[in-house]
Amino acid sequence: MRPSLRIAGVSSGTSDAWEIYFRASERIAAGAPVAMLTIGDHDWPTEAPILDAMDASARAGQTGYAHMSGIPPLRAAIAEQMTAQTGISTTPEQIQVTPGGQGALYAAFMACIDPGDRALIIAPYYATYPDTVRAASGVLSVLDTRSEDGFQPQRAALEAACAGCRAILVNSPHNPTGAVYSEATLAAIAEIAVAQDLWVISDEVYATQVYAGAHRSLRALPGMAERTLVVNSLSKSHVMTGFRIGWLAGPPEIMRYVADLGMATTYGVPGFIQEAALFALRDGAAIGARTHAVYARRRALALDILGGANGLRMLPPQGAMYVFLDIRATGLSGKAFANRLLDEEEIAVMPGESFGDAAAGHVRVALTLEDARLEDALRRLAGFAARHAREG
Ligand code: PLP
Repeated sequence: MRPSLRIAGVSSGTSDAWEIYFRASERIAAGAPVAMLTIGDHDWPTEAPILDAMDASARAGQTGYAHMSGIPPLRAAIAEQMTAQTGISTTPEQIQVTPGGQGALYAAFMACIDPGDRALIIAPYYATYPDTVRAASGVLSVLDTRSEDGFQPQRAALEAACAGCRAILVNSPHNPTGAVYSEATLAAIAEIAVAQDLWVISDEVYATQVYAGAHRSLRALPGMAERTLVVNSLSKSHVMTGFRIGWLAGPPEIMRYVADLGMATTYGVPGFIQEAALFALRDGAAIGARTHAVYARRRALALDILGGANGLRMLPPQGAMYVFLDIRATGLSGKAFANRLLDEEEIAVMPGESFGDAAAGHVRVALTLEDARLEDALRRLAGFAARHAREG
């Protein structure tokens, strides 16, 4: 029997974005002391008070079907937070609780593009974006950005790339580069979106992880509230990656259809997970602050060790939980660098190529290892790069 063209077309078939991660995981399972700096998952577990909230909820009976768009107090808490952060009045009906930020990304594309519509993503990009556009039967357009511009899209290029698109996906703070879009970049995106009548999907899953400057939601800019779908989750901010809890927020006219999609796909997120999320949002400020402090400390460590290293160049990340290294001086591709680093030093990083062609010649290092092991791995990574730069 033949699978549908739609599902067979989700993956481009050429993407092996997670190859190093899988190879490193196999080595760890076989007992090798691999320093795992690949995917954006924390190296410590969800804090006990959140687990207690989940446990109490499940034991109190929240084990049946939960409200399909999200339990009312969670949607109210999210709406309240968004109103406070953006100054744009947001109601609970404008929130759909989803399985993680990824669930919200899929729902967003399903909501705002028709089959065959073009959607623009900005490279380097988070590795699931192309497949998510294709899963919604969209056609991908990619705009490359350059390290020379701090990986900020430039107005003229953006204007040209948006022509003929129905939607643009924006991610700030940015994975993998750590860029936080400037006021000028955000204003350009907003003005172009209004002028070209585009939907904007704003992926803000790293909103709480900013080290230089400040996060500003695109939704807060003039003319944006009626055309912006905000993607967010508690995965990064509250160490809840495995809970699969996030949300999509947007104009009421479109969110009622997103609710229909929620019914047709997941039929809601478990009630005890939602109550744990409610606890995290209402009472988890200290947990969020501790998470931020860990990555701020490790970022400083990485800047210190890698900043002046031979063979490496780096833009200090302004946000998120990675450092993005330009390794072109070593003469290696991102993929060759990552493969050899794993084979020779037992250090696993993501090759730039996993994030699109614009990231070739780079690697992304996730700061997801406790400080002493991270420091050791970063020093060995710097030594590896210096050796190759000399040999090259
Ligand atoms: N968006 C970006 C930019 C990410 O880096 C990630 C996860 O790494 C996600 C979305 C998905 O987040 P979640 O774990 O909440 O699905």
